[in-house]
Amino acid sequence: MKLLFLGTGGYHPTERRQTSCLLLPDCGIVLDAGTGAFRLGRYLQTAEADLFLTHAHLDHSAGLTYLFSVLREHPLQRLTIHGQAEKLRGICEHLFSEPIFPAKPPWEFRALEGQSGRIGNLPLGGRLTYFPLEHPGGTIGFRLDWPRRSMAYVTDTTADPQAAYVKNIEGVDLLVHECYYPDACADLSAQYGHSSLSSVAETARTARVGRLILTHIDPLHTAGDNLDLDAARRIFPQIVLAEDLMETVF
Ligand SMILES: [Zn+2]
Ligand SMILES: [Zn+2]
Repeated sequence: MKLLFLGTGGYHPTERRQTSCLLLPDCGIVLDAGTGAFRLGRYLQTAEADLFLTHAHLDHSAGLTYLFSVLREHPLQRLTIHGQAEKLRGICEHLFSEPIFPAKPPWEFRALEGQSGRIGNLPLGGRLTYFPLEHPGGTIGFRLDWPRRSMAYVTDTTADPQAAYVKNIEGVDLLVHECYYPDACADLSAQYGHSSLSSVAETARTARVGRLILTHIDPLHTAGDNLDLDAARRIFPQIVLAEDLMETVF
């Protein structure tokens, strides 16, 4: 299964990174709609698509307003936006309110029920599990399973090998996890609901995942040059820093 990183930055875009957006082109699944979503039109390959939102903070949702031009570039027979009910309500009432954006979104918005649950009928025999994560305003993580491959996407939370979500990502082939801070800023991680590097590596090790790709990078350190990957690889060896337009197969 192919995974394409269309936006790998946190908070705001930089010359190097748009904000959070991942695409699984083989099955038309999009994870988050940050500013990187403007690239979807070029990379979508399916006639239908499902877009799952972790939460509604603008670095994960601003790109919903770009979908009008995305769909001119790559028309879809169906587009469904999935997210928690209160997040979808906030998006429809505020992001798409008349003073902010001039057109109402014509796509279907479908609320995910509760804090955790499962959607079992994804393309190619896949299923998606969502689970709660600690973050100001609340967010959810995703795990995607196909018969012989799996991945998880965990962003906007404070990595902790003891956290409840670790059981949800147990044993996935690929973990895409946010890493906004170096260890020197670990105190800020909990305060702002983000992660520092060693804690992410320890979480990957505890969850016994196959590989770890770091995303949602601090825009003030867009090259990730403040992250000591060598030290982190002594905790968990298989770590790669995501880049925009990077493609991986899991
Ligand atoms: Zn974010
Ligand atoms: Zn957030």
